[in-house]
Amino acid sequence: MTRYPTKQIFVGNVPVGGDAPISVQSMTFSKTADAAATIEQIKRLYFAGADIARVSVPDHESAAALAEIKRNSPLPIVADIHFNYRLALKAAQVADCIRINPGNIGGKDRIKEVVKACSDRRIPIRIGVNGGSLEKEIEQKYGNGAEAMAKSALYHIKLLEDLDFTAIKVSLKASDAPRTFEAYRALRPLVPYPFHLGVTEAGTMFHSTIKSAIAIGGLLMEGIGDTIRVSITGELEEEIRVARAILQDSGRQAEGVNIISCPTCARLESDLKSAVAIVEERVKHIKKPLNLSVMGCAVNALGEAKYADLAIAFGKNGGLIIKRGKMIGKFEGDELLERFMQELEAMASEP
Ligand code: SF4
Repeated sequence: MTRYPTKQIFVGNVPVGGDAPISVQSMTFSKTADAAATIEQIKRLYFAGADIARVSVPDHESAAALAEIKRNSPLPIVADIHFNYRLALKAAQVADCIRINPGNIGGKDRIKEVVKACSDRRIPIRIGVNGGSLEKEIEQKYGNGAEAMAKSALYHIKLLEDLDFTAIKVSLKASDAPRTFEAYRALRPLVPYPFHLGVTEAGTMFHSTIKSAIAIGGLLMEGIGDTIRVSITGELEEEIRVARAILQDSGRQAEGVNIISCPTCARLESDLKSAVAIVEERVKHIKKPLNLSVMGCAVNALGEAKYADLAIAFGKNGGLIIKRGKMIGKFEGDELLERFMQELEAMASEP
């Protein structure tokens, strides 16, 4: 699966674009002016496996808190600013990247100042087009579909390029998967900059997971995308978990355990649902890429086991464990899962 070649930029020490691993990011929801609360949320993101954290900077108190946040943050910080170029200038003194749309900050002189501040500190700018808030003229001419979103991005990009500023990344988010998908595809051949993928305001865990898997996953499988954010009305950790799963299931991240399990049917003679939940919980810490198969009976389990690193085929009162295609044995009751986990931990620590 080839990846679309893009220019590489750096957000702090995290490379984005080019041949860099596709990074995962999220955004804090604390008041940024409350530095302690924001640092605590960034640490949660870090421990959940995020690479980059974004914080909103809606006022001068928030901009003033950035220095302390940055000092204590284990992750690079993107400062998210709308319209206010003074906030952008303040944030650019501290943050590792600023998100601002240059066409919305009130004229060329202000854009120049912001570009200079970012150039001086060698930090990038993320242009963040949102399908729900396009420029009036663009909306009147092109509507608010994928074409309009791509036109809006080109407009903002040109303002930066005219000032020889090319440390750019771009997002084109809509609140539905088809528009998001088409917007990124429309813009991809037209610019060399890395893309930040995401569906905006994607909803609860259930709906966001579906929308994000369709749009972000679909784009990743076309080789599009350099950093991703899954937006969920829920907990920070959930966003990172879903984002990592999308990367893994779209074949863009080798790291971590992939679990194959069956939907069960009348042949089932065990509590497969509980067993899979236990395995899923107990493998979270494993970074090594391993394929596990946990199946309800021998009908399809033996076929799946041929391609799995470690497999269980449940039967009546227990089941078989198969390691890299070879039968380890038949185990009963709790011993089945315990033995399975022992084998798995041993495989995870193999060099
Ligand atoms: S593996 Fe067995 S229990 Fe699971 S769905 Fe297939 S036939 Fe049914």
